[in-house]
Amino acid sequence: MVNLLEYSAIFLDIVTPRRCLLCSCRLVHPLAHKTCKRKILEDYLCPACREELKVCSPDLTGVGQIDKVFSGYLYAGVLARIIPAWKYHSRSEFFPVIEVFTQQIISRCKLSASGFDLVTAIPLSKSSLRKRGFNQAFFIASCCAEILDLPLLGHQFTKVKDTPHQAALGRDARLLNLNRDVFRVAGKADLENRKILVCDDVMTTGSTLKAAAGALKKAGAVSVTAVTLARVE
Ligand SMILES: [Zn+2]
Repeated sequence: MVNLLEYSAIFLDIVTPRRCLLCSCRLVHPLAHKTCKRKILEDYLCPACREELKVCSPDLTGVGQIDKVFSGYLYAGVLARIIPAWKYHSRSEFFPVIEVFTQQIISRCKLSASGFDLVTAIPLSKSSLRKRGFNQAFFIASCCAEILDLPLLGHQFTKVKDTPHQAALGRDARLLNLNRDVFRVAGKADLENRKILVCDDVMTTGSTLKAAAGALKKAGAVSVTAVTLARVE
């Protein structure tokens, strides 16, 4: 027997059909399968696209000054299409998907508010921020801060030197590129003995996270844990 919710889903599916954000195939309307208001991946990606997601081993310990790194997925398949479309081409429809990925990583890696004092993001330089219009890492950090109910360190953690784009460099050049004081914590940000959760979208060599963790620890942080949506294998 078809219940009211299923009738509504069928109706909404006709009026406003839902499509996979990547391949445009038809999706089942969320009303037909959802029991809660929380966003889920099924609302945005079809089963075939979701199948391409490659979950990461969650914990990679000891990367320079970073105490732990939690990455959600390998940077491959659909994720290697979603992240560039989101951050370089301002595809705003991907914001909720990124939010869902962040929720999943926090829950899969069992991150809880008790392990941290505040959340921050890898900052962008002023010129990159102007060009891109938003900081993708800051969006992920905002999601983490909201889910964990922790304070967010924003403009007091900045990137003061413009470095060549990491993705355009080879491995050795990437490591050298950030081997300078590129990040700065403002004096009034009190990080003394704080446990920090720092967020970024993709970890490649880890050099960006290492440089950021170095700056945060220099400012007094007692531990720095990184969360990235994806990691390059
Ligand atoms: Zn699809």
